[in-house]
Parts: sequence; structure tokens; C-alpha cells
Amino acid sequence: MAIAGIIIAVGLSEYRRKRHFARTPEPSGHERRARDEKNRLYVIQKHAASRLHYDFRLETNGVLKSWAIPKGPSLDPSVKRLAVEVEDHPLEYGGFEGVIPKGEYGAGTVLIWDRGRWLPEEDVSAGLRKGVLKFRLEGEKLAGGWTLVRLKEPQNGKPNWLLIKEMDAAAKPGVDITGERPESVASQQSIDDVANKTTRVWHSNR
Ligand code: MN
Repeated sequence: MAIAGIIIAVGLSEYRRKRHFARTPEPSGHERRARDEKNRLYVIQKHAASRLHYDFRLETNGVLKSWAIPKGPSLDPSVKRLAVEVEDHPLEYGGFEGVIPKGEYGAGTVLIWDRGRWLPEEDVSAGLRKGVLKFRLEGEKLAGGWTLVRLKEPQNGKPNWLLIKEMDAAAKPGVDITGERPESVASQQSIDDVANKTTRVWHSNR
């Protein structure tokens, strides 16, 4: 889609191109219509891949806009966390907790670390274009005002953003939320529980 000379990647083609749905339990998903602005999904998935990171996802125009945050979010407004923009994911992905088998894209364990809804404070498409998105989160671990700010220099072709907590009642300077609350909000399991208890995808070569 081209708007005023800006090319915007939409849809799930990159998501699907990277994955073999016969071999990974991740959902292939569907493009969906944009839903009511007041009921848009927010989810963070803790992903113990070759490097542990936190995948931050905001439902936008029927898909989950996604950023990989190496250190995870911080409730401390003085801490800016790098958030690398990655491919859109299907809405169904927000319910995925399990093991991506060895050899597949993103191999490792995925846990639903936080979940709720998000409320943009301005037009989302305009914010994503200009590189400043202000919003509120209503999750179990993260709440209150947040800002995503795009940095000028993309790395490896992926735009880099910073995720920053606003100073408000939900801010907790000095609190290590990822350390204090490592568990899944969906199953209460730890990442090791998920890795050990999840039914693995069957492989003919086992
Ligand atoms: Mn990931």
C-alpha cells in the first residue's frame, strides 16, 4: 500500500513466509477487520529463543503490530528499552503459549507474560508514520501511560524504537518487573514449566 510515497507493509505475508505451519504449533492466522478501538488486544510474550526477549504486540488494523524487546519492558520512567520492529503477527498469536521446535524460525519457548487491552492516545496510523506513539496499557503487569519513539537509524533494515514508561501512578522506579513477575498470566507457568510440559509437535524423524 502506498500513501503519499510511503510504502507500508501490511498483512501477514512476511509472518507466513518465515514459518512452516506443518512443523510449528504457532497459528497461521487470518487477516481480520479492524475492531473497536476500545477493545484492542495488548500482549507481551516472553520468548526464550536463541536469545531471551519479550515480544510486545499491539492490535492494529486487524493484526498484531510487533516489536522485540531484548531486555523486556521497564516500569521505571528513566529506563528506555530498545524495541526492534518485527513482522506483523495474526491476532490468534496473542493466545499462543508453547514450544517452537528446534530448526524452526524462532525455535524456543513462548509464554504469555502479560495481556490486556491498549488505548491509543491519538491516531495510530499517524503515530506509526511519524514515529511517536502514545498509549495506555491495561494489562495485569503493565498499566498506565507509555510511549514508543522511533529512532532515526534502522539496524539490519528493521526500525528501532524505544519503549518508555510515562511518569504516572503506574510507574514504579527501581522495580524489576520482569524479574519479580516471570510467570505466565495465562497459565501461571514458568518458562521452564512451559518448555517441559507442553506437548511437542510430532516429527517423523524422531
Ligand atoms: Mn520473538
